[in-house]
Amino acid sequence: MALKQAILPQTIIYLLRNDLRLHDNECFNYIACLAEKLKTKLSGTDNTPLHLVPLYCFQPEHYISGTYNFGFARVGEPRARFTLEAVKDLKLHLQSKGSDLIIKSCFANEESGSPVNAVSSVIEQLGITKGRQEDSQDSCSNCTLIFHEEATQEELDVESSLIQLCDEYGVQVKSFWGSTLHHKDDIPFKKVLRKGSDAPDVPDVYTQFRMAVEAKSKVRSPFPTPASLPPLPNHVLSDDMPTEAQVGVSHELNMPLDKSAFPFKGGETAALKRLNDYLWGNNAITTYKETRNGLVGTEYSTKFSPWLAIGNLSPRAIYAEVRKYEASRTKNQSTYWVIFELLWRDYFRFVCLKYGTKVFFPGGIRGMKVNWKQDKNMFDRWKSGTTGVPFVDANMREILRTGWMSNRGRQNVASFLVKDMKLDWRLGAEWFESMLIDHDVCSNYGNWNYAAGIGNDPREDRKFNVIKQGLDYDLNGEFVKLWVPELANLAQSTSSTKGKIHFPWKLSPGELNSAGIQLGVTYPKPMLVAGEWERHYGKVMKKTGGPSDSRPASSDSRHQGPQKQRGMDFYFSSSSNPTSRR
Ligand SMILES: Cc1cc2nc3c(=O)[nH]c(=O)nc-3n(C[C@H](O)[C@H](O)[C@H](O)COP(=O)(O)OP(=O)(O)OC[C@H]3O[C@@H](n4cnc5c(N)ncnc54)[C@H](O)[C@@H]3O)c2cc1C
Repeated sequence: MALKQAILPQTIIYLLRNDLRLHDNECFNYIACLAEKLKTKLSGTDNTPLHLVPLYCFQPEHYISGTYNFGFARVGEPRARFTLEAVKDLKLHLQSKGSDLIIKSCFANEESGSPVNAVSSVIEQLGITKGRQEDSQDSCSNCTLIFHEEATQEELDVESSLIQLCDEYGVQVKSFWGSTLHHKDDIPFKKVLRKGSDAPDVPDVYTQFRMAVEAKSKVRSPFPTPASLPPLPNHVLSDDMPTEAQVGVSHELNMPLDKSAFPFKGGETAALKRLNDYLWGNNAITTYKETRNGLVGTEYSTKFSPWLAIGNLSPRAIYAEVRKYEASRTKNQSTYWVIFELLWRDYFRFVCLKYGTKVFFPGGIRGMKVNWKQDKNMFDRWKSGTTGVPFVDANMREILRTGWMSNRGRQNVASFLVKDMKLDWRLGAEWFESMLIDHDVCSNYGNWNYAAGIGNDPREDRKFNVIKQGLDYDLNGEFVKLWVPELANLAQSTSSTKGKIHFPWKLSPGELNSAGIQLGVTYPKPMLVAGEWERHYGKVMKKTGGPSDSRPASSDSRHQGPQKQRGMDFYFSSSSNPTSRR
């Protein structure tokens, strides 16, 4: 039987998920190697040794169901557009290699887009029937399902259901790990002792993880891009590629691509171009450490995350390219720092593997007891960018219009929601899940756990002072002006207005008047004012000779906060100490 197996033509079904690329893809490498092997064995016969069915599903769970607790659209418009572009690009790449992409889409038929239904329909179209292994001499069909493994529950459930399905049809299953920089099997931690889990028992503090990994684990070399791929078998039907309208791209957002910090397209082509441009094109990588906390424009950070999230870009390919760049152009702290950040991404993935569904629980991976508040009115003001706190509003409007927000912005708005507004962190996490182009379950929920003080943060109750942050990172108000144009007249860099855009409620009626602002009419009054902000606007007022002792324009005493309370001012500067960075 072994001999018969070895020389029979075979079919591989490759279920693509968040691995939409041909470069550094172990599944395609497996296929290319198998094709080579079978070609030699079957030489001299007329048989095509190997057929391949690359399969992608537009899942009802993503496009029809909402987010878990609050029912926001699970894939908002910016990511829907990006995903469609990425899938179309993949199809073209596959065609150029002699293959194609089979689509199963919930827009054709709600049932059809679910991975288990999609795979079972392909298996049946291949003529494989259930129970074959029981009444035939063969224990298996000559068909194998392959896929890359994911880390969170819903995706792991899909994997279990696929294994069960394939068992019923005698289809073999092979899975690979390909989403992290360091392979799951290479990192120096024992496995978690939990039934059915092979998760590494990573430490709860990032620095311990990073130091162990940097000292003891090597990044594997990327797999080569296949020169060609096996053809599709006959009779496997594809649904149509969904239209923009079907996935929810309405163009109503009228996305301002000229203003967006992420004006790029989805797909491996655009991802590899960005990698090349950021390194070899403009050498932006050599100043990454100094610019990474920026807010405006495309070059302050790599912008790799949306492509990494959907798998258009492999972290190992980034690593290999950075090493090449360092060897032939420049090696400095900035080039190191890009890799350092990629380790955060690895870390959250392994944390999710270790803690399972806890990352989604109200008390997070630490299982804390917190009475989270869910106030719709407050949340609506946060998500629509109308809190009356300009730095928060600018960031929230940016994500709403473009699907992008800088890392600096994300940390501030998350802290504001959880620590200032005291709202349930899951509202914020699910809103990000809906809106972010780069949404990645592990990075998003891991970072929200962290921001809410229920995750991997050894420092208790860390809070960002959004006024200080605004002044530090947007002193001239260029960022706020971009997204909150009604305050634009305050975004001047003259000494009398510098920084004041961040706290319009402290300005005198005369100052507001001359900037054309009527608080509560043209721009909201702040929904809250934290005590610890006081000393920061004080500093600007003193420096610019402003009316630090004039009456604040807002007469609502609730908005002025306890003047004497200094509160926490946890603010972490762009220190060169990697342990202090989040
Ligand atoms: C509340 C919150 C939610 C977030 N949600 C996501 C998310 O859904 N998807 C996502 O990819 N990132 C998320 N991040 C992390 C981070 O903000 C983004 O990865 C980063 O802003 C992407 O921009 P960039 O590619 O230019 O990053 P760069 O600064 O250029 O960093 C390079 C790469 O390192 C990785 N990285 C950097 N910082 C982090 C981090 N804190 N956590 C994990 N990986 C990191 C990313 O893959 C990034 O592409 C979140 C951060 C916060 C505070």
